[in-house]
Amino acid sequence: MCVEGGRKAYRSSAVCLFCVRTMPRKRVLSPLPIFDQEALEAFLVERKQKVSHAVKIWQYLLFTPNASLETIDRVENLPKVLWEPLRKHFVLFTTKVVRATTSTDQTHKLLIELQDGLRVETVVISKGASTARRPEGEDGVTICVSSQVGCKMGCHFCATGSMGELGSLYAGEIIEQLVHARRWANVRNVVFMGMGEPFNNYRNMVHAVRGMLDPKRFALSGKRITVSTVGVTQKSIQQFTADLPHVSLAISLHAPNQELRASLTNAARGLPLPKLMAAVDNHLEKTKKKVMVEYVMLKGVNDSIAVAHELGKLLMGKNVVVNLIPYNITNVERAYEPTEAEGIRAFKEILCKVYGLYTNVRTEKGGDVAAACGQLVVQSMKPKGAAGNTGKVADIEDMMASADPTGTSPPVEEGTEEDLVRMHGTELYKRGLVLWPSLAHNQRSDIKQLTSKMQAERGVNIRLYAILVMGTVAIVYMWYRTGLLLGLYDGF
Ligand code: SF4
Repeated sequence: MCVEGGRKAYRSSAVCLFCVRTMPRKRVLSPLPIFDQEALEAFLVERKQKVSHAVKIWQYLLFTPNASLETIDRVENLPKVLWEPLRKHFVLFTTKVVRATTSTDQTHKLLIELQDGLRVETVVISKGASTARRPEGEDGVTICVSSQVGCKMGCHFCATGSMGELGSLYAGEIIEQLVHARRWANVRNVVFMGMGEPFNNYRNMVHAVRGMLDPKRFALSGKRITVSTVGVTQKSIQQFTADLPHVSLAISLHAPNQELRASLTNAARGLPLPKLMAAVDNHLEKTKKKVMVEYVMLKGVNDSIAVAHELGKLLMGKNVVVNLIPYNITNVERAYEPTEAEGIRAFKEILCKVYGLYTNVRTEKGGDVAAACGQLVVQSMKPKGAAGNTGKVADIEDMMASADPTGTSPPVEEGTEEDLVRMHGTELYKRGLVLWPSLAHNQRSDIKQLTSKMQAERGVNIRLYAILVMGTVAIVYMWYRTGLLLGLYDGF
């Protein structure tokens, strides 16, 4: 349903006639992304083949140097009948990085073009990204992935929201963002805080997360993946708790009461605050894991001392971490302003000292490049006649914050994927070796074999050395005894 127009009847049309927003279309990809679990398993089932072949295919592509679908015949025990159809129906990448920008703090922003020409952004943050696991900043590399093109949730302060929802990503396309990002750095954490509302693309989000967690594929840890939602339905959050209990949840709250929240986001109309908090309580109880509460600081709107107390009372006693997000000025319809640093500090103090809540202020990363890239995505994707503007944009759920409201700071470096990989790519990528060069399943077993071989060799060497020493001692001793018997030492 179109959030803005509120009319279900017009879903099938390209543009909602009430609010002139572009409505999401069902995207059909051809060829399909090979990393899409649903697509690949459906392909195998259709051909009456075992779904376990999928794992073999992924392992071959991810961990074999310079592997491609052209050489898929090298996969052990993969039926010959699958070779040609696989090459015909699937590709290694359906997406490509059309522009990459690197900031002074080594944050990379990748503009990724999908097969049908739609574009999304992925951000690779070298250090210090806020996650549910470590809100004060991760040590390892974090990527921020997009789950949709645009978003229909209608958060009034968010430029992505002004685009409307243009489409949802396949799970394979979400996973491809991780594989692309791996060219820049050894990714340890993933946050679903890029373009789109992950719970509006629930099925693909869950499949993508499961692929990332799979020890035979990307082997990421559940606590290092954070999925952020503004709240679509109470049931979907409960479902998330049941489906992915080891994965971290972040809630975009932004207000401590229903009235204020409804003035900031249309999502509050669909999922009122009491129901959202009930879903959070259920998640906390079932998983015993911290939930991250995201709160964008808007001057004169939700940043007063009274609101801080209200928020403190709402969250007090819950196992949550509050992440205060300094607002980035965007040219969305309603003119919001960022809360000054002093105001954020006072707000934080109340939450920490009066209500005992762990509170963090999100650090800005990649500020000198975020504006230019965010603008490109939104401008090139903005439907004709849609609400919004053509000015500078930034997504509140984007990990990158704009430090330069004019958007005139030049990016530190930018260029094609090849340029940037040459400059910043990980060594393994520069040498064109493997797509996911971490110690995953088959490499671990290779290393295990190698280690036991070395240990066996070392054992042989030690035994030979012992025999040699004992033999020498025995010869010397016999020589000595013989000398004694023959009286060779009598003169000494
Ligand atoms: S803040 Fe998130 S949920 Fe809200 S409109 Fe933007 S992308 Fe969508």
